[in-house]
Amino acid sequence: LWRFWGPLSALSKVYSQLLSAMASAERIFEVLDTAPEVKNSSRARELPSIRGDVSFEGVSFRYEENKPNVLHDVSFHVKAGQRVALVGPTGAGKSTIVNLLMRFYEATEGAVRIDGIDVKDVTLESLRKQMGIVLQDSFIFAGTIEQNMRYGNEEATEEQLRNAAESVRLDRVVAQLSHGYQTELEERGSKLSVGQRQLLTFGRVLLSDPRILILDEATSSVDTETEQHIQEALQTLLAGRTAFIIAHRLSTIKDADLILVVEDGRIAEQGSHEMLMKHGGIYANLVLTQLSMQESVILQSSHS
Ligand code: ADP
Repeated sequence: LWRFWGPLSALSKVYSQLLSAMASAERIFEVLDTAPEVKNSSRARELPSIRGDVSFEGVSFRYEENKPNVLHDVSFHVKAGQRVALVGPTGAGKSTIVNLLMRFYEATEGAVRIDGIDVKDVTLESLRKQMGIVLQDSFIFAGTIEQNMRYGNEEATEEQLRNAAESVRLDRVVAQLSHGYQTELEERGSKLSVGQRQLLTFGRVLLSDPRILILDEATSSVDTETEQHIQEALQTLLAGRTAFIIAHRLSTIKDADLILVVEDGRIAEQGSHEMLMKHGGIYANLVLTQLSMQESVILQSSHS
């Protein structure tokens, strides 16, 4: 059985580099722009406001010259507003797919297109400001709650800020803090619980209103009530956006418009839950194994 609920390794790596570079940086995107791997091409233009159509066309990729490819001929098409679940064992290439979408790296062969535009032809800033990212480890800076929310959208009005907070139920958290939105947080946000940090990240992303959202679904344990809040907030966040979810929960995967089963750098299967179950391949086997494991856990606990 795959451990297909593993964390997003390569992406977390990029992000932890960002975190350490972050201390003195003003905004996430300035730091992203200084990531050394990729530079704007001389003919780069601004990516106009996107709908959020994404296609990978025969994408192959290797991280280093003279090393074998880690992605092989990856092709798929996502319509604007659809949810994509990436599943597959650790090391399969899920984070690499996301890395190419955000252009942390460039396809060795083939093309990554957003609304039909090759991401190589646009400026990094105009690309990334239309993307939001939510990782398992919530990304908190030293500064106030408000400042934390405003990363990615410094021009937001007070009203937009409050609305975003309310939509993801962050307002309740803020109401409990003695200094409200002006409460100072330390780097990594030690004053907040894991769940509260997640809500803060959701609020920030909602405020920046990206068309494409990348999400590493949390596996960290929070209590059931917080979990429910987070799930609801997440639905608000996802609504109307193209989302790439490194999914760890079967319920999330089932709900996806498109499931990409990634194995050894290839898309082994793709389709909806129903299609893939009917197909009776890798995915169907995984789901059945997963379900029978859950059942056996339930059976065991009811015996004890
Ligand atoms: P997943 O997200 O499915 O766990 P990854 O996309 O992280 O898989 O990894 C795919 C392959 O690429 C793995 O063999 C991994 O070791 C390799 N890889 C990931 N990031 C890098 C990197 N920055 N440099 C070199 N190889 C990498």
